[in-house]
Amino acid sequence: MRVILLSDVHANLVALEAVLAAVPPHDAVWVMGDTVGYGPDPSDTLALLRERGATVVAGNHDLAVATGEGLGAFNPAAAAAAKLHRAWLSPEERDALAALPLVLRTGGATCFHGSLRDPVWEYVFDVRSAAATLERAETDLCCNGHTHVPAIFERAGAGARLVRPRADETYPLGATALVNPGSVGQPRDGDARASWAMLDTDARTVEFRRTAYDVAETQGRIRDRGLPGFLADRLAAGL
Ligand code: ZN
Repeated sequence: MRVILLSDVHANLVALEAVLAAVPPHDAVWVMGDTVGYGPDPSDTLALLRERGATVVAGNHDLAVATGEGLGAFNPAAAAAAKLHRAWLSPEERDALAALPLVLRTGGATCFHGSLRDPVWEYVFDVRSAAATLERAETDLCCNGHTHVPAIFERAGAGARLVRPRADETYPLGATALVNPGSVGQPRDGDARASWAMLDTDARTVEFRRTAYDVAETQGRIRDRGLPGFLADRLAAGL
């Protein structure tokens, strides 16, 4: 099975459209959370993923927008965006976000936003936190997001090791692996292009990809819609 891995789209419809135009034929799309928050087009982004039949889990921004809770943990720009998204979305759209699973098993993999210790909030940046998740994994493949940085963590002895993937390269997956495709809508690894990945569950490989999109268009929409300007500025630097 060929699966497109997306995460942290963050209401950046222009970036999502560019990615979906670039993806090869596939059997499924898995989205590891934070579909809304930060960006200008939360409603249209949700609609496009629904139209593509994507399998979606909940992220911290999704839940904050859905419920209005957890905003205290956000920086001021993130909280301001979550409040605006909450106001823009319909009750049905907010209910759909609130109903998203935190952890979902599909196609032999386990998908979540943060980690298996804390699916909503924990950032898996290092091998220690990765090892804690890999230890809890009941499938040999896990997929997450949340850090906005593409990564592969593999079980290594009692711990884990990190592979920093490069764009346009294909990596074999070890016996137990955690794959983060990076962020479509707000990359934070210094590359402004949308980040995503393509999984082949039969070959047990993952290929990482970057797709350029019209950053200026998204920046214009962010400013036009009254979102904090900082959220537009950071997209150009991919930070
Ligand atoms: Zn995010």
